[in-house]
Amino acid sequence: MKPKPKPGILDIAPYVGGRAHVEGVEKTIKLSSNESALGPSPKAIEAYQSVAHGIDMYPEGSAKVLRDAIAAHFGLDAARIVCGNGSDELLTMLAGIFLHPGEEVMFSEHGFLVYRIAALANSATPVVVPEKNFHTDVDAMLRAVTPKTRLVYLANPNNPTGSYLPHDEVRRLHAGLPRTTLLVIDAAYAEYVRRNDYETGIEMVSNFTNVVMTRTFSKIYGLAGLRVGWAYCPAAVADALNRVRGPFNVSVPAQRAAAAALEDRAHVEANFAHNEKWRDWLTSEIRKAGFRVDDSVGNFILIHFGKDKGRTAQDADHFLAARGLILRGVAAYGLPDALRMTIGPEAANRAVVAALAEFAARK
Ligand SMILES: *Cc1c(COP(=O)(O)O)cnc(C)c1O
Repeated sequence: MKPKPKPGILDIAPYVGGRAHVEGVEKTIKLSSNESALGPSPKAIEAYQSVAHGIDMYPEGSAKVLRDAIAAHFGLDAARIVCGNGSDELLTMLAGIFLHPGEEVMFSEHGFLVYRIAALANSATPVVVPEKNFHTDVDAMLRAVTPKTRLVYLANPNNPTGSYLPHDEVRRLHAGLPRTTLLVIDAAYAEYVRRNDYETGIEMVSNFTNVVMTRTFSKIYGLAGLRVGWAYCPAAVADALNRVRGPFNVSVPAQRAAAAALEDRAHVEANFAHNEKWRDWLTSEIRKAGFRVDDSVGNFILIHFGKDKGRTAQDADHFLAARGLILRGVAAYGLPDALRMTIGPEAANRAVVAALAEFAARK
């Protein structure tokens, strides 16, 4: 006899992050985890360093400094913002709060791996809904709703496909859900999207008691290593999160650096412009080299490969890795024939295009 984890826990395949090294290759560029191409804001680094001598003291537990900065920036009610140790922590906590064993958690076919983990960790059943041409299929989602559907996770834009759902589609999805189902809009890449028909979900959180939006400082703000995310919630959901979260879940340096990053508009703009320019360039150059690349609104692209020996995604991955270019295999996302590439610095982007052209020309 020994202690036994709850049903579901041992069905979890542990999350494997993007590789950072290649054995035998000294100089590598990591394009596997959608980190910022331009790094953190100098103002965030300064804020981080400025609190180094105070790390003997516990943080202010509610992350008030950061919540106030976010509230001012986006025009939100600070009382309904909850910060987390990355948005992953918030996505996971929501599952812990709302799921009973045997209930269902719905997400789309190529959705973020954390959603499945959060469901299984709470003895709930993941319901994976097929996508239509790498886009979330709202009709299929609505058809899959049952009385047991408690949580719906929607990454918008989605990783790793790079597609997004227009706002009216998100509204249609919400309108078809029972009031007792929580719709979690994971908007980790929202800052990269400027389209007339896209919205982050803030307005829906304001109008409904069953919608939460999560955001992160890991992507355009370049603070992935610090682990900071936030959720904008209906008051009752914020209240529940504040009861279960770790009392000091966001560190002092994380709170300060994130607040400073938010205020450095010029750095965010530079990141956005860099991303637009190089995402467009990479998409068209890699297509010219003969590979299918989906349109993406994120800071990454999805590149498709064939099934022939020597030409598969795995072959391409090895070929690129040997040249120090680390992309992300996405078989765990149901995409065994594709690689995801984070938009990197100019030299890295050029190196990938040159290497893929060489790979394509290989006999
Ligand atoms: C990167 C990413 C996140 C952010 O995770 P953090 O824990 O905030 O670093 C959330 N959702 C998706 C879909 C992502 O790709």
